[in-house]
Amino acid sequence: MAAKIVPLEDLATLVSLCKRRGFVFQSSEIYGGLGSCWDYGPLGSQYKLNVKMAWWNAMTRRDDIVGLDAAILMHPTVWKASGHIDTFTDPLVDCKDCKNRFREDHGTKDDGTVACPKCGGTNVTEARNFNLMFKTFMGAVEGDSSEIFLRPETAQGIFVNFENAQTSARKKIPFGIAQIGKSFRNEITPGNFIFRTREFEQMEMQYFVEPSTADKFFEQWKEARMNFLLNLGLEKDRLKFSEHGPDALAHYAKAAFDVEYKFPFGWEELEGIHNRGDYDLSQHQEFSGKKLEYFDEANKKKYVPYVVETAIGCDRLSLALLCNAYREEHTTLDNGKEDKRVVLGLKPELAPYKAGILPLSKKEPLQNMSRKIQDDLNQHWLVNYDESGSIGKRYRRQDEVGTPFCITVDFESVDDQKVTIRHRDTMAQDRIPAEQIKSYMSDKFMNW
Ligand code: ATP
Repeated sequence: MAAKIVPLEDLATLVSLCKRRGFVFQSSEIYGGLGSCWDYGPLGSQYKLNVKMAWWNAMTRRDDIVGLDAAILMHPTVWKASGHIDTFTDPLVDCKDCKNRFREDHGTKDDGTVACPKCGGTNVTEARNFNLMFKTFMGAVEGDSSEIFLRPETAQGIFVNFENAQTSARKKIPFGIAQIGKSFRNEITPGNFIFRTREFEQMEMQYFVEPSTADKFFEQWKEARMNFLLNLGLEKDRLKFSEHGPDALAHYAKAAFDVEYKFPFGWEELEGIHNRGDYDLSQHQEFSGKKLEYFDEANKKKYVPYVVETAIGCDRLSLALLCNAYREEHTTLDNGKEDKRVVLGLKPELAPYKAGILPLSKKEPLQNMSRKIQDDLNQHWLVNYDESGSIGKRYRRQDEVGTPFCITVDFESVDDQKVTIRHRDTMAQDRIPAEQIKSYMSDKFMNW
């Protein structure tokens, strides 16, 4: 009988799987946890790395984009120039009834009244502007002159290195700089697991263009980014563009679109694609006194390039992909009992383990053959050796963490040097020579 497929209905189910299987733990859990900070566990750290590699490869394995890894701590004037010191604020409101503190826009109704998202009351304080940057001190003396900030976005590291990257890599415009790194925002209302946190990782790419071509590249990047998200397996009808109206447009932006994803808690921003004009480079030119112009040899003209930016949170994308991948397959067995198979239908590239290696018994010849397969595959991917429990239970353990293949080594395998490969999604099995496992898996990855 065909299984009934049930997608993820509430976030709590995923949070519990993530903790149980070692994807994500609460930070400092043994001390009671630290608000909205999360740690990626044994499987989560590999999974997140795979998400980053998918982005990094898509961005940098081409001729017109180079990579960068800038420091988190930057010269304090950077944040003056970028506008973050003066304008990187959220309007903070307190509910006088239940004492809940929230972002005014998170409680604003269509008619403009502000209601507390927790208790619904409208007895709230006037909004006060609250700067989201974390402050710290550099050096031994605490004081105004040593005050610095943890970066609230990775983009500024790219702008201040525009010239270094362009000249050292000998790039001509149009070209881009891509970076993955931690950012910090003292969010007023963080939440929804790893969706909105105070410490998070961003994957940003700034594409520098000749000003009159910015609209064209903006359209190209919108399309390219949507295709990237679709290729990672996100469902088409759970993705949409939403344009920033004049009110929501950042002070520097010429045009901005968000890609939104339908999470279990509603449609929310996943990625931003912005036409930032020449705002950033012009500001850094003014504040640093250094020219950040580009000289176009062919046309003999000088200009400050425009920037088309794509910015996505790695944690937020990792969450979207997990929500998207989770499914339960419910079947009624012959004896009338309900069977539930939990599957993370991640693309194989993203799955933490590429294969589970399962010897049918703990007898030495089977173990030896299985360990040899593990060593061979470990040259290419992370795989998991598991010999405990029934084979059915072991399959389920792998399904639940998204392992695309299970390789079973049985008594016959030792004689005929063949193994059984089981596919996560179809549960179909193939018997193949052990020496062909690597090429069999590689082929399947490419055709997935
Ligand atoms: P929001 O409106 O959700 O606060 P934003 O518009 O300020 O986000 P950007 O500054 O454009 O976000 O940052 C680019 C991307 O970084 C976002 O699309 C999101 O994926 C990610 N991001 C931003 N803030 C956070 C956060 N606090 N936690 C996790 N990811 C974040």
